[in-house]
Amino acid sequence: MPLMDENLTAIMDEVIARNPGETEFHQAAREVLESLGPVVAKHPEYAGAEVVRRLCEPERQIIFRVPWTDDAGRVQLNRGFRVEFNSALGPYKGGLRFHPSVYLGIIKFLGFEQIFKNSLTGLPIGGAKGGSDFDPKGKSDAEVMRFCQSFMTELYRYLGEYTDVPAGDIGVGQREIGYLFGHYKRITNRYESGTLTGKGLSWGGSQVRTEATGYGTVYFVSEMLAATGDSFDGKQVVVSGSGNVAIYAIEKVHQLGGRVVACSDSNGYVFDDAGIDLELLKEIKTERRGRVEDYATLRGGAVRHVKDASIWEVPCEIALPCATQNELNGADARTLASHGCKVVAEGANMPSTPEAAVVFHEAGVRFAPGKAANAGGVATSALEMQQNASRDSWTFEHTDERLGAIMRSIHDRCLETASEYGRPGDYVAGANIAGFTKVADAMLAFGLI
Ligand code: NDP
Repeated sequence: MPLMDENLTAIMDEVIARNPGETEFHQAAREVLESLGPVVAKHPEYAGAEVVRRLCEPERQIIFRVPWTDDAGRVQLNRGFRVEFNSALGPYKGGLRFHPSVYLGIIKFLGFEQIFKNSLTGLPIGGAKGGSDFDPKGKSDAEVMRFCQSFMTELYRYLGEYTDVPAGDIGVGQREIGYLFGHYKRITNRYESGTLTGKGLSWGGSQVRTEATGYGTVYFVSEMLAATGDSFDGKQVVVSGSGNVAIYAIEKVHQLGGRVVACSDSNGYVFDDAGIDLELLKEIKTERRGRVEDYATLRGGAVRHVKDASIWEVPCEIALPCATQNELNGADARTLASHGCKVVAEGANMPSTPEAAVVFHEAGVRFAPGKAANAGGVATSALEMQQNASRDSWTFEHTDERLGAIMRSIHDRCLETASEYGRPGDYVAGANIAGFTKVADAMLAFGLI
């Protein structure tokens, strides 16, 4: 991995000092800054205008109280966040995460990543992220609704189709987006569809948005494989997680001729040598809100549920981490490489630790970072905004084609940029540099703001 020059090291030190304890944000910032040496060397104007330093400071950070009552009538309290990181390319855009691990450092890392990812899509969207330490797991629909209404009662004043447009992420699916949008509509007295994405199809949603992140990740990998004359056909694949991203990644791998043999949740993984039965998995996860352990019980036969173990011990040629940050460490990466894994693409945000990324690099495993590989979700959200703005709706086929074309273009731009800056084949450098330069040029054009 390249070392940072003096100026970038000083900026990194400042990020750590100004954001104490926010380790995930430090990790995300370091990963980008490590790629930027050749860019700032080639463009001294970026350093002169302190573009990198300004980019590491969010434009606005909102932290708020979210009180709500549970079904027993007891008062509960959570904390809400929205980090509006950068609006150089368009309105702030990025999902909401409801998970007990959420704190400012997680939201900031996700918001920072989102700036470059959104830039890579080529669509006019800035970067943001938000969420809460609320845990929707085990809560009734009524409790989730009351929480969402209280959350939106504060957040609505910062949103708008030209200002900030949230969507889903971990713990926020169509149910939560429905409660959030319904409340926004009620308290603003405006049917402003373009204010939230991930909506239901009958109330302003886009075809393919549900599938987009998982499908997009697999389209990206198809391009990586095609670049070396290969394809998914007959490949054994492992996908971590069993949520929105994982489910649709599995679906697309199967459609393209690969076989996903394992998936997981935070309690362990299931191994199904015949290939994951997606209909069963979808029923368990989306209808029953159950666990992957239930998959092993219901499917029976030789299917194994392995508790509290790393899914990366399962041999595969292609690995798609689609669960959460830092779920794949250096030891996992070594295991994957020793089993002959050739391609890793991140469906989740920052699932590989920095050590894992180094191991992949040294072992010649081709590695696509989340900000490139999982950009299909936000890209399709931007297509949803386009449809809302023109009061139109597109067919599944048309939207899926647009998604495929966007993923192809991101893939090609990553490779071209990596070569241009002397790092051929390095998707991490390509994604960071291509994402950065577009935002940096817009920031320069706007003067000092
Ligand atoms: P979901 O809430 O739908 O699913 C998350 C899945 O990950 C669940 O199966 C969850 O299991 C599992 N998981 C969480 N922690 C762990 C862990 N430590 N080990 C194994 N599994 C774990 O979220 P999404 O699918 O929407 O998001 C997954 C990732 O993709 C996140 O990093 C998100 O930021 C990223 N992403 C999502 C996009 C989207 O459009 N939804 C867009 C771009 C990126 P459990 O039920 O046990 O918690």
